[in-house]
Amino acid sequence: MKFPIPEIVAAIALLLPANPLPAAPAKPNFVIIFCDDMGYGDLACYGHEKIKTPHLDRMAAEGQRWTDFYAAAPVCTPSRTAILTGRLPVRSGMCSAKTRVLFPDSLGGLPPSEITLARALKDLGYDTMAIGKWHLGHLPPHLPTSHGFDHYFGIPYSNDMDKVGKGDHIELAEAGNHQAYNVPLMRDAEIIERPANQHTITRRYAEEAARFLRAREPDRPFFLYLAHNMPHVPLFRDAPFAGKSAAGFYGDVIEEIDWSVGQVLAALKDRGLDRNTLVFFSSDNGPWLIFKHHGGSAGPLRDGKGCTFDGGMRVPGIFRWTGAIRPAVVRDIGSTLDIFPTFLALAGGRLPTDRPYDGFDLRRTLLEGEPSPRQDMPFYRDDTLYAWRHGDFKAHFATQGAYGADAKNRQAHDPPLLHNLRDDIAEQTDIGANHPDILAKIRALADAHRASVQPVENQLEKRARKKTQ
Ligand code: MG
Repeated sequence: MKFPIPEIVAAIALLLPANPLPAAPAKPNFVIIFCDDMGYGDLACYGHEKIKTPHLDRMAAEGQRWTDFYAAAPVCTPSRTAILTGRLPVRSGMCSAKTRVLFPDSLGGLPPSEITLARALKDLGYDTMAIGKWHLGHLPPHLPTSHGFDHYFGIPYSNDMDKVGKGDHIELAEAGNHQAYNVPLMRDAEIIERPANQHTITRRYAEEAARFLRAREPDRPFFLYLAHNMPHVPLFRDAPFAGKSAAGFYGDVIEEIDWSVGQVLAALKDRGLDRNTLVFFSSDNGPWLIFKHHGGSAGPLRDGKGCTFDGGMRVPGIFRWTGAIRPAVVRDIGSTLDIFPTFLALAGGRLPTDRPYDGFDLRRTLLEGEPSPRQDMPFYRDDTLYAWRHGDFKAHFATQGAYGADAKNRQAHDPPLLHNLRDDIAEQTDIGANHPDILAKIRALADAHRASVQPVENQLEKRARKKTQ
């Protein structure tokens, strides 16, 4: 017997998943470009009026630019833990109110039991490389090459550490004194240069990335993690960028990073990898405002690095994948926590089931333009939950200023402060009295989250000596 055409179509539809994702390469390549302390307002495509960022602007126009994208912590080490593991750093002991981040005398680091994105992709046949700032532990058990990366080239912690010169970061940077910072440059697990010549560090990271990309074999998927040390103070840039930006020294640094993005995109195009490579660009936390003209801009957001107002954690978030990502400005919530589950799913992997994850799979937003599955964002300062965003509303259980003069002024709020970020992006007006239902909802969400966190050994508080910086 013959089926009428509509019945055949209906029968086929029953066999298919409800909403199949568009065809994409079985194992796309991934590039993460992650800056250090770049603010929400530092790029032209996020509203900066003086800094020129044509490559990032193009990347945003060709892909998705997210307006409400969050790092998972307002400072380096915990934020980097989150992007590479898909888990809040409080779950792995990678945050601390006592030390904030790892230091050159730290004995701890990302525990071997944590599964990085590199490890997960390696298990799926990916070639992996980390370039740039690591800051998840500089001792052998914690280095990139112990966490799923085939190779590493970079400075293993912040570029202001190992300070041996006299003077503040602004004076030393403006004097061009990179020798004031005895930071090592490593290849794999070996130190190859010390002090690292930071004047050329952004350029050398870009060149290393381009070399890696141009050497790829077409049938081997890869993951490149390119984490710039800049624009964390002390600022450095190479000679061709010195004095070029209308936004001064800081603008020079951002414009060199933008150039480096252009180098990555050009290498992908030259190698014919555009259509099967997803490039993601973001920052680990907001701008370090205490450094004034050597710090970045949070744009319209309140405050900066170190705090849980949006200026500390809302960052640029740009995704580009030619022919696959639906170009758009996305105004939904996303987070660096979502990178691990999203990339792993795109590669055909499954989330491990032996531990809680804090990320969401953003594939349908990226590929089909559907709303983001993320409705909530927790805001941790060190190991304490300070705030929670649900939809457009954000409740502050406590507030404390960004790193600088106000950093010690912690205030608890009961009832919590409540802001509507859609109407009040600068978090100025407490509207909690008008919305007891929303506060109750957020309290319940935060309580449920807190109950999911198990105590673990702290990695940041294991030091060889007392904190000296
Ligand atoms: Mg940082």
